[in-house]
Amino acid sequence: MGETSSDRSAIIVVDPQPDFFEGGTLPISGATQTAVRIAEYLSTHGEDYALKVVTQDWHFDPGDHWSDHPNFVTTWPVHCAADTDGARIHPALADESWDVVIRKGQHEGAYSGFEGTSANGSTLFDVLKAASVDAVTVVGFATDHCVKATALDARALGFHVSVVLDLCAGVDADTTRDAISEMSSADVTMVTSRDL
Ligand SMILES: [Zn+2]
Repeated sequence: MGETSSDRSAIIVVDPQPDFFEGGTLPISGATQTAVRIAEYLSTHGEDYALKVVTQDWHFDPGDHWSDHPNFVTTWPVHCAADTDGARIHPALADESWDVVIRKGQHEGAYSGFEGTSANGSTLFDVLKAASVDAVTVVGFATDHCVKATALDARALGFHVSVVLDLCAGVDADTTRDAISEMSSADVTMVTSRDL
């Protein structure tokens, strides 16, 4: 599978779902262009990874994670309702050969992929450990929320973690800047796709 270093790596594509794209209920500026870049990156580098993982926000009744008067920090407009078109994997990435699909947030807000499970009930941590993965590359949506939470959890669980900044998009410029600084402080490596 073309590992070029001692690390066995997984790529985790966080929440590429239509509700987070232009025209969705909680749109992130630049999401469509970012998804196209992720697809291009996977076409040229996908085989470098032992596992290709995608996460989905998958809400049935997430309590006050949804709000009619959202503050866009801890409460949000209705998004990614389970089994709706807005929650499926965006067409730009739907045809990838995903090894694992992790769904999270069924009954509460869940920002980190490590809070979710695969179709057979395995946690993301268990999936990565079973594949002897020790490094993860995190991309997707949104830099300042679910990408950050997933990267910080991965680091806390002992993985080497890289975030590819041009393959991520954030909700807000200020909180995205804060997220990058918080991740860097936790020894998450910030790279661009040209570095890889
Ligand atoms: Zn959510």
